[in-house]
Amino acid sequence: MNKTEIIDAYKQYLMPTYAPEVVLEKGKGSKVFGVDGNQYYDFTAGIGVHNIGHSHPAVVKAIQEQAEKLVHCSNLFAHEGQVKLAQKLVEISGLGGKVFFCNSGAEANEAAIKLARRWGSQNGGRYEIVTMRNSFHGRTLATVTATGQDWCQQGYEPLPIGFAYADFNDIESVKAAVTDKTVAIMLEAVQGEGGVNPATDEFMAGVRALCDEKNLIMICDEVQCGMGRTGKWWGWQNYSVKPDLFTSAKSLADGVPMGALIANAKFADVFALGSHASTFGGNPLACAAALATIGVIEKEKLLAAAAKKGEMLKAALQAFAEKYDQILDVRGLGLMLGMVTEGPAKDVVEAFAAGGVLACTAGAHVVRFLPTLSIREDHLEEAVEMMGDSLDELFG
Ligand SMILES: *Cc1c(COP(=O)(O)O)cnc(C)c1O
Repeated sequence: MNKTEIIDAYKQYLMPTYAPEVVLEKGKGSKVFGVDGNQYYDFTAGIGVHNIGHSHPAVVKAIQEQAEKLVHCSNLFAHEGQVKLAQKLVEISGLGGKVFFCNSGAEANEAAIKLARRWGSQNGGRYEIVTMRNSFHGRTLATVTATGQDWCQQGYEPLPIGFAYADFNDIESVKAAVTDKTVAIMLEAVQGEGGVNPATDEFMAGVRALCDEKNLIMICDEVQCGMGRTGKWWGWQNYSVKPDLFTSAKSLADGVPMGALIANAKFADVFALGSHASTFGGNPLACAAALATIGVIEKEKLLAAAAKKGEMLKAALQAFAEKYDQILDVRGLGLMLGMVTEGPAKDVVEAFAAGGVLACTAGAHVVRFLPTLSIREDHLEEAVEMMGDSLDELFG
């Protein structure tokens, strides 16, 4: 099928929740290739999924080898990959607890919410979770309610009860939202979909102190800012605090759907036998892909690379902001960067795509950059030049 045929059939057979204009055929490292022969630097990386690049040979090999042995076995049975991966996640988080596996970010957050409620039910009958405005936690009914943005909740009422909202980076607002029913505070160290907003040191420290004082669970949603994206394994590791629970998904298994909830020792055994489950969660294929992905991040030293290339890209974006009045601000951590635009961010994303760089939006006025952590420095420089040309055409 050619591009037009695919887009036409897409409109006929897929529910209209998305409206893609680019049709991809393959990816390699930091580039993707369209069916029409166009190639792009992929600064969406599958929305923060391909931190180690598309089709990394180590992950391809791990998937191939595992697919020949055992793709799936359900959680009625154990397998080695699952315990190795859980051990690794506990190690690289330094939380010293346990892991529950599932298949997506929403599902990982759903698990965190359920764990918090279960613990709250045994500790004073508490169930309310305070989340932040402009957060994003997923699209299931509970996680869309946790998401502090009206636009994705509208039309789905009645929403589940038990959520309250506070302003991100405003600890007084969080304090005001806590009641005697509150059991947890949930936040992203760097808000992704909500506009690439990093938490301040004071805010993270304030949330931790409040949780300690009121016996609340601190939950970090690391679905987008985790797995090396910010230059550390986990976004919260840029701060001087540790959460009680955190969730991972997106880049965890380099594109094989996978999610995880990691709990410290205090909350490691809140779920009891049969109290939560997932058929696919932590299946052999996903675990093999995730173990290979973590191995690549370690071997290729991608945490340091993300920090360094993040500085390079940030400086380049700041130069754009100085050159064009239509660019108002640049923010983010590591290789999770946002460029605030005066006009619609969508216009800039479209101009970049036409020029050969795929980026995405984060809200109406933020262009979001999530390049692969493994992008070659000369490729990063080339992509910056291409974006500069696109901006010249758009604004110049
Ligand atoms: C993408 C995202 C989710 C939802 O993940 P899905 O895999 O799409 O369910 C949750 N939280 C954050 C921070 C995300 O970026």
